[in-house]
Amino acid sequence: MKKIISAKENISASTLSSASPEEELLFTSLRASRWEDFYGQDHIKESLRIAIDAAKKRKEAMDHTLLYGPPGLGKTTLSHLIAKEMGSNIRMTSGTALSKVGDLAAILTNLEPFDVLFIDEIHRLPKAIEETLYPAMEDYALDIVIGKGPSAHTIRLDLPKFTLVGATTRLGLLTGPFRDRFGVVHRLDYYLPHRLAQIITKAAKKLGVPIDTDSAESISKRSRGTPRIGLKLLKRIRDYAQVKGNGKITKEMVEKALDLLKVDTMGLDDNDRRLLVMMIEKHGGGPVGISTLATSLNEDPGTIEEVIEPYLIQIGFMKRTPQGRVVTDAAKKHLK
Ligand code: ADP
Repeated sequence: MKKIISAKENISASTLSSASPEEELLFTSLRASRWEDFYGQDHIKESLRIAIDAAKKRKEAMDHTLLYGPPGLGKTTLSHLIAKEMGSNIRMTSGTALSKVGDLAAILTNLEPFDVLFIDEIHRLPKAIEETLYPAMEDYALDIVIGKGPSAHTIRLDLPKFTLVGATTRLGLLTGPFRDRFGVVHRLDYYLPHRLAQIITKAAKKLGVPIDTDSAESISKRSRGTPRIGLKLLKRIRDYAQVKGNGKITKEMVEKALDLLKVDTMGLDDNDRRLLVMMIEKHGGGPVGISTLATSLNEDPGTIEEVIEPYLIQIGFMKRTPQGRVVTDAAKKHLK
């Protein structure tokens, strides 16, 4: 395996979505390394495996692939699985780490045939880099401009056949021409509680922490449909059980630890409640525009759109209307 070029960057201000370097290490150590250990998202797995098999039979690189959806649903893990199944290396970078065309050129020219180049947060790539990627994706070629002014000319370098895997939380921010260059596009969905319970139980086993079915289900219901959050909660509950109990995770430990973390029965944390309460108290429940919300909460609009709001919409606590965001009756009832 080649060296990883740059680590994943975290976008979130939401306490449960952001991760410390130590937690990132935990996620890496728990990362599924076989398809069987990647639970759920069955149609995506199946279609990726077909695309990989077809590419292998034709002795070609797999089609460029775009994975989108909220953070923590398994986009990075899937890209590792693709590389493993192709029998190739994965090189990782992100849209914010690539600021100069030269950086991209260095990565591309060092790829080996059929390698996977994973670009996280691909919607954040500068325009010039995106345009350099077009011939690389289409013709496996890199156009380099030599010189300046009237004497400037372009030379074309051949690249090995490779697969670009892009991950994004914001598909809408990708330009049409860029999106069209991906042959395979998949949206990852939030996980159902029973799937999350499987992921949590498996992770607890790997960590050597005893956990019963009830406790795993209870954590999964409060994990916002997101494996990354489920694993993060598991880690915090494990700490709690070690300090306050005998190390075994029981339903009582789960409830006490999550109350301490202020994660409620629907998985809402302080940021979600702050947003909903502010919409109800200051704006009569909406409609409210995203920029007004961001200013009132002193929060980045991107974080609200990418991290906080998708789950609230998914569970029916918020609606998006042409006039702005609206809090639903279900949310009001939950918040009492
Ligand atoms: P993303 O790239 O979408 O932010 P990651 O791939 O980094 O998400 O996943 C975060 C953590 O959750 C990793 O430790 C990963 O192994 C785990 N995970 C995500 N999806 C699954 C899944 N379907 N089955 C098992 N573990 C998963």
